[in-house]
Amino acid sequence: MMLALVALLVALACAATLRGAFSSFLLVRESALTLEVNELVDLILQGAQNLAFERGRSNVLLRAAGPAPAVQLEFLAARRAAAASLEGALASRLAGGQGAAERARRSYGELRALRGEVDAALARPLAARDPALAARWFETASAAVADLGSLATALSLGPGQRDLGFRSYSRLKIAVLALRDSLGIEASRIAASVAAGRAPDGELLEIMRFRGRSEALWELAERERSGLDDPEAQAAIDAARSACLGAFRSLEERVLASLRSGAGSPVPLEELTSASVPALDSLASLMGVLADRTAAEASRLHASSLRRLAADLLLALLALASGAAALLVLTRRLLNPMRHVAILLNELARGHLDIAFEPLSRDDEMARAYEAVAWLRSGLVERQRLLERLEELSRSDGLTGLANRRRLDELVAEELRRAARQEQRLALVMIDIDRFKRYNDRYGHLAGDECLRRVARTLAERARRPGELAARYGGEEFLALLPGLAADRALRWAEALRREIEALGIEHEDSEAGVVTVSCGVASLVPPRGLAPEAALELADRALYRAKAAGRNRVALSEES
Ligand code: GH3
Ligand code: MG
Ligand code: MG
Repeated sequence: MMLALVALLVALACAATLRGAFSSFLLVRESALTLEVNELVDLILQGAQNLAFERGRSNVLLRAAGPAPAVQLEFLAARRAAAASLEGALASRLAGGQGAAERARRSYGELRALRGEVDAALARPLAARDPALAARWFETASAAVADLGSLATALSLGPGQRDLGFRSYSRLKIAVLALRDSLGIEASRIAASVAAGRAPDGELLEIMRFRGRSEALWELAERERSGLDDPEAQAAIDAARSACLGAFRSLEERVLASLRSGAGSPVPLEELTSASVPALDSLASLMGVLADRTAAEASRLHASSLRRLAADLLLALLALASGAAALLVLTRRLLNPMRHVAILLNELARGHLDIAFEPLSRDDEMARAYEAVAWLRSGLVERQRLLERLEELSRSDGLTGLANRRRLDELVAEELRRAARQEQRLALVMIDIDRFKRYNDRYGHLAGDECLRRVARTLAERARRPGELAARYGGEEFLALLPGLAADRALRWAEALRREIEALGIEHEDSEAGVVTVSCGVASLVPPRGLAPEAALELADRALYRAKAAGRNRVALSEES
């Protein structure tokens, strides 16, 4: 019961630590997923930037008269080659994805389909091209860039990404892509208008709309920037902002102003195009810095979750080990000894005092319990000895040490039964000291007692064969039980005893012989079944009476023998 209770407590403690370890494991999985997601998002953002380049350059070439210069075509080819890894990711890692992934895959697919048309158109002179193709291409590519941006948002700001630092840098990365997108659209449209010599209807308004979007995005970036404790990233944001809104913006203003007034561009197309490069580059390098940050955040998260898992596992292991140790110690130090003590007490209670056990070689309550059992046992052993002694005393005569009257009665009955059963003889010899009253009167009671003892000793030494018994019948009378002795042998036995006592030579001036003598009454019989002990004793007693009557110091045989 106690063991079960402790086991339950240990299990509860272990369960709590294991639960902690399990939640750490979930965090490790989540952070591993963040690492993976971040890698994928960077791939998507790179792909989207790359696509923005392809979109802008294709747009300008589609609107420009004359054959596309080889360097431009090479640039396009390089952009398309760079898109391969994004396309691979869309096809494999995001295949089958729903929502944003599906939309991105679909719009990218449409864009791919349109590339063939773009290439075919570029091979033709401007007049032979579909006039709507450039706009269609631009819209399709813009939709693909926007969908890739949404996909990156869904992945890096999804519910699985909970770390605030990671989310802040991720938001900035996506804002930078959107800025890059807006800037590209804006620059490309202006460049296309410059290439075409004028801005198409509504184009300037459209350009202003994208500018407005850029302003909002810069505001958002500014908000995120102020929350960062990261001077390097803040410097990169500042650099990109001044590159986008500084010299490039004022050149654009000049170009837009002259387009608005209907005049041609004040700068050649090449100059305009190359002026946008530092702004685009600053955004690309900002993106690089932010990508480093999200990667570092994701790695930090992963490493710390791994550390936490290791610590939790260690804790769980410790809890398990200490729980097992507690159970072991409890069982070995407490329960086993307690069980043993219970067994020992049970044995003692049943009277098995010869149980063997070692005392515990330690100094605690359990050792005390063992000691108590040892004391209890020695107390019981002592009591047992006393009982045995008492038993013996209750059956023997205090003065002579012979069996007393009580014992004698039992034994006479027992021997009579046995002799009757085995149909064997039993001889009884009743012995009485002659003139003992006078002895007491003359020599005193103490001398009388000593005389009784000497007679008893002589009798006991004569009745020493197995089965023979000498007892004090009462006062100065004794009885000998001699199994198997016929009358003649019993007579001889009694006669020898009588002589021996006489030969002791105990002075007795008031007796006929001058020394202490005894008279003996002998009876020998094969007792009939059920003969009362009193009846058998009566026979010996009557023979004794006759010995006395015949003059004492002699032996008489019962007439019935
Ligand atoms: P008899 O020869 O007829 O047997 O005569 P008796 O004097 O021996 O017989 P009686 O029965 O008259 O006396 C027995 C005496 O034994 C009486 C009593 O004082 C004495 N006696 C009995 N028990 C003890 C005892 O334990 N110690 C002593 N010292 N004397 C005892
Ligand atoms: Mg007597
Ligand atoms: Mg007597």
